[in-house]
Amino acid sequence: MSLDRVAREKLVRALADSVIQHADELTSLDQAIGDGDHGLNMKRGFEAVLATLPGLADKSLPEMLKAIGMTLVMKVGGASGPLVGTFFMELGKALPEQSIRADLVAATAKAIDAVKARGRSEAGQKTLLDVLVPVQVVLAGGGDAKAIAAEAAQAADRTTPMLAIRGRASFLGERSIGHMDPGSRSASLLIGAAVKVLEFEASS
Ligand code: ADP
Ligand code: MG
Repeated sequence: MSLDRVAREKLVRALADSVIQHADELTSLDQAIGDGDHGLNMKRGFEAVLATLPGLADKSLPEMLKAIGMTLVMKVGGASGPLVGTFFMELGKALPEQSIRADLVAATAKAIDAVKARGRSEAGQKTLLDVLVPVQVVLAGGGDAKAIAAEAAQAADRTTPMLAIRGRASFLGERSIGHMDPGSRSASLLIGAAVKVLEFEASS
């Protein structure tokens, strides 16, 4: 998977647009079970990322991912900035300069472990890990772009009936049930945007 400069810039813009265009939706999800800042947090973070273009896309893919992660950690308030930022940073650290799909499978697993460590969380607690973990399984299992995007959307939907055990929504206890987790929705949007640009083909 080697992306040229044009593809790298396209990827950054697609990721940023996916959350910026859905900021209002992310905000209303967070208004239901959080403090209503998730849309603004993600928008602010990815606007800061966009502001580092065009230089950002001059970097290699791993270096670019690390830089995106650092910007998100620095610019996004709230729980999501350090968590999503950690994911990008660790993905960049774990990916070799010239990567094949197996490298991406291994690197996403490492990045997810870093998110778990940072959030002291696991899948099943109604957080963005409930999207990252099952999507990584589909990636590891050879799924194509369509399968990965479909799993991301379905995994975000599956957080609706869940009880929040981590993050601000956990303060609501049972009242967190019946609402989609905002971080899961933004993770699903980012994954959908990424696979569209990367055009994953199925592998066995
Ligand atoms: P905050 O909760 O500080 O207001 P955001 O609203 O930007 O931050 O982000 C909330 C999202 O962050 C949640 O929907 C959830 O997906 C994710 N999140 C919060 N805490 C954790 C955690 N400990 N582990 C994993 N994800 C978490
Ligand atoms: Mg919030």
